[in-house]
Formats: sequence, C-alpha cells, structure tokens
Amino acid sequence: MFGRPCLPVRGGFGDRISQVDEPLQKEVTQTLLNIINGKDHCPIELSPIHRGSHAEEFINTFNHFLSKYQEMVDFVQEISKGNLDADPPIGRFKALDNLKGIHSNLRHLTWQTHRVAEGDYNQQVDFLGDFSISFNKMTRQLKESFEKIETQKLALEDANRFLENMNMTDPLTGLGNRRAFDGALGLEWRQGERDQSPLSLIMLDIDSFKKFNDNYGHQEGDDCIRRVAKTINRHIKRPRDLAARYGGEEFAVILSATSTEGASVVAENIRYAVEEMKIPHLYSVATDVVTLSVGVATLIPTIGPAPESLVKKADKALYSAKNLGRNQVVVAERP
Ligand code: GH3
Ligand code: MG
Ligand code: MG
Repeated sequence: MFGRPCLPVRGGFGDRISQVDEPLQKEVTQTLLNIINGKDHCPIELSPIHRGSHAEEFINTFNHFLSKYQEMVDFVQEISKGNLDADPPIGRFKALDNLKGIHSNLRHLTWQTHRVAEGDYNQQVDFLGDFSISFNKMTRQLKESFEKIETQKLALEDANRFLENMNMTDPLTGLGNRRAFDGALGLEWRQGERDQSPLSLIMLDIDSFKKFNDNYGHQEGDDCIRRVAKTINRHIKRPRDLAARYGGEEFAVILSATSTEGASVVAENIRYAVEEMKIPHLYSVATDVVTLSVGVATLIPTIGPAPESLVKKADKALYSAKNLGRNQVVVAERP
C-alpha cells in the first residue's frame, strides 16, 4: 500500500509518545480513526497540565498536521466542485505536490478546451491516459471536418461566381448580356441623375446579317458576331463603360459621363474598325464587307423619364442609319 517501507521513527515522537498520558493517547487515536473513517475531527485541546511538557510539543505538531490535512481536504473538495481557481494550500508533502500537478493539468485542460471552442483545433493533451487519446482524436477530427467545410465553402463561392458571371455574360461573345445591360443602364442613369452628367448610348446592328447567315452558314455567322464583338470591346476604354450584346446581331455600348461628341467619336471609330476587318459579305446591301449601322443618343438623366427613353432615342437613330443606306453613324438630335 505504501510506496516505500515505513521505518520506525527514532528519536522523534515515537520515543516520547510513551510520556504522553493515556487520555491524550486515546484522543489522538480517536482523531486518527475519525480521519480514516471519514468522520469529522477537531484539533486536540491543550490542557494546562500539558503546558511546558513534551506533550505540548506533540499536541502542537499533531494539530499542525491536522490543519494541513484539513487544508488539503478543503482544496480537493473545491476542485471536485469544479472550482479550479481555488488556491492550493502551502506545504511540501508529496500528496499535496501530486494534487497540485493534477490541479495545474486540469486548469490547462480547461484552457485548451476553451481554445477548441474558439476554433483552435491544434490543441493536444499529453496526460490523463485514455482521456488524452479521445480528446486528441476529437480535436483532429474537428480540424479535418472544418478544413473540409472550408474547402467546400471555397468551391461553392467559385461556383456562385461562375453562375453569377454566366447570368451576366453572353456565352457567344463574352460581352455583357441583356441582363447586364439593363442593370448597368439603370445604375448609370441614377448616377447621371445625381451628377447631372450626360449619359450616352450607342446601338449597333450588323448590316444584312440575315443574308450573311443564309449564304455563308450559321457557323460563319457566329464567328462574325464574335469578331465584331471583339472589335467593339476593344474601343471601350473606361472602367465604367459597358459593351453588351443586346440581341441577335445587335450590340449596345453605355458610356457614362460622356457627351454626344465623345460618343459620336467612339461610334465612328467602331464602325470604321469593323469595316476595316474586311470580312467578306458579297450579299450586303451596303458594300461587299461586313459593316455596322450605328445610332447614338445622349441624355442628361432626370427623375421623370426612365432609362428606356435613352434606348428609344438611340434605336431611332439606328433606324435612320439603316434607312440612309447602312454602314454609317447617325446621332440623335439633342433634346
Ligand atoms: P439589317 O441590315 O436591316 O439589320 O438586316 P439584317 O438581316 O441584319 O436584320 P434581320 O433582323 O432581318 O436579321 C438578323 C439576323 O441575324 C437573323 C438571324 O438569322 C441572325 N442572327 C441573330 N442571332 C444570331 C446568332 O446568334 N448567330 C447567328 N449566326 N445569326 C444570328
Ligand atoms: Mg437587327
Ligand atoms: Mg442587322
């Protein structure tokens, strides 16, 4: 039961105990029995007859032992109640040292559990045997699960971005689609309203495109749309400007804070660049290469009319360009 053999005490109380009177021996024995049996115990009272004798020294030392023992019992009780902030008693006996070790490990474990609850899954325990194995397995699994969730979250974000782009992008040309156009025009209209700055819109339509398709085939037609889109996009320089595929072989360019003059220059540059691509179109009513008819309109947005009024104006100008013989830019009258 004991870690090392107990040697009889020589020259200590063992020798002197015989000098202690019988009632005192009985009281000490009873107190020790009470401790062993888990009953209450009290310090031994020092009676006047013991003063100045060996018995007085014995009683004082015994009572000192009792009070240290009691402090240790109280400390264990606090720990078992979960009060890990309780201060350990001062003393140097072995059982107390071991108790302090357990106390400090429990405090550290509490702190580690706190860290895990905060999301730090790198905590590992290296005491408490089986408990350590399970705790470490739990934190490892939590870490793996959260890493998996994080990867899935990133993949989901990627997928959402992809879907969002798909929703706003015309798959054939990579330009903005009709939805992107409507959104941007609404935004720029409101911005123009606030700044009272001119908002310009260019509408562009490939001339005699039906005949192009009929004679060169749908595949060539798609290719032509892609090349025209690329050329249009090359002329859009400012970050807020937007080129969109408005429908079939029609395109639109939104130029924010741009005057009629500025927009007319951009429109003419695009028209010229497309003509200069020299994509053969022997069936066009305009000339023998692919060309664009272009309508330009500018408005200073106001609260009254909707952005559609700008679209209508640019469309009307485009219609005029068609009627005037195609392959040209028509600028809508200023209001
Ligand atoms: P206009 O000079 O008056 O503009 O005549 P157009 O033939 O260009 O105009 P119309 O509206 O009569 O015909 C447009 C054609 O564009 C009809 C359709 O076959 C073609 N088109 C529309 N979208 C696509 C597409 O995505 N790919 C291809 N290859 N052709 C398309
Ligand atoms: Mg058209
Ligand atoms: Mg057309």
